[in-house]
Amino acid sequence: MLEVSNEVKLDFTDVLLVPQFSSIDSRSKVNLIKTFVMPHSKATIESVGIIAANMDGVGTFEAARVLKEHGVMTAIHKNYSADQLIEFFKTSASYGSFYSMGISNTDYEKFQTVKKQAPIDAVCIDVANGYMDSFYEYIERIRDENPFVTIMVGNVVTPEAVRKAYEVGADIVKLGIGPGAMCTTRLQTGVGYPQLSCIMDCVQEADNCGIFLCSDGGCSQPGHVAIAYAAGADFVMLGSMLAGTDEGGGEVVDGKVMFYGMSSKTANNKHFGGLKEYRSSEGRTTMIPYKGSMDNVIKNILGGLRSTCTYTGSKTLIELPFRAKAIRVNNTHNRAYENFTIGN
Ligand code: 5GP
Repeated sequence: MLEVSNEVKLDFTDVLLVPQFSSIDSRSKVNLIKTFVMPHSKATIESVGIIAANMDGVGTFEAARVLKEHGVMTAIHKNYSADQLIEFFKTSASYGSFYSMGISNTDYEKFQTVKKQAPIDAVCIDVANGYMDSFYEYIERIRDENPFVTIMVGNVVTPEAVRKAYEVGADIVKLGIGPGAMCTTRLQTGVGYPQLSCIMDCVQEADNCGIFLCSDGGCSQPGHVAIAYAAGADFVMLGSMLAGTDEGGGEVVDGKVMFYGMSSKTANNKHFGGLKEYRSSEGRTTMIPYKGSMDNVIKNILGGLRSTCTYTGSKTLIELPFRAKAIRVNNTHNRAYENFTIGN
């Protein structure tokens, strides 16, 4: 018989944070930069902890150049050529950027080529399903060969996998199966884990090991980023919130830009000459509103985070999970004029 846990698992849209008395009288006094010392590579990272997702239209070189100025990192998407990656990772603009790869032989060979010719401080080893033995074997191999490189891996959703990722040498583990705006995995497979509970259920094990958690996917508003941090995520990866910008590229048609999941049919056609016969698409293709410069988009997100810190009496983002209290809600906000909005 199917074993069903009856405990309700939560998403970012199921809770709100409650204000706390505070000595902070201005958002300008809030420090969003956190300092992380990686458990394996021993590298020090100073960052807000937001990471642009390694998706076409988000994790571009142009995005990395803009986001770096705000202490935001970028996972560079893996569809650039080795030559393009070498050129980028040779420049100072690459500071705070992750080199992304899957776990195939081709991914391994490409990484070898790039790292021979350009310094790479951080990598993101990314598979849709981080529960395969081959995933952990690959991480172990990359760790053995690159002791000082910061390694982020994903995606998983359970504490056992968080520990396993740490044991094979990962510094950061990415959480999330199915929360992404462009993702149809939960519909296609019936597999997934609500993202807020996913963080909450993994945070203790991450603390026990010393590995950092990156919540990946499911944020569609700045407040969701704040809730992810309040729940104990060290990093938050953003895809769709940063998409539709100039830096993401893509043609603007009637005020909209095409944006698609990395395992959508569109992405498979573009990068792999179509979907393999044994696979189905687990991503969608959309036209999303054009947002202009990524600079404005990220400033809005950071402004929201500063405000959350003020409301919760947190002088720094590091304090937020210790000060924040949340309540479960039926409605997060008033939707009466949502469809009539013309700006903010
Ligand atoms: P978002 O911030 O847009 O909600 O989520 C971004 C995340 O969605 C990415 O970092 C990645 O983990 C996930 N993602 C991107 N494309 C796809 C896809 O085609 N299928 C699935 N299952 N997940 C995707």
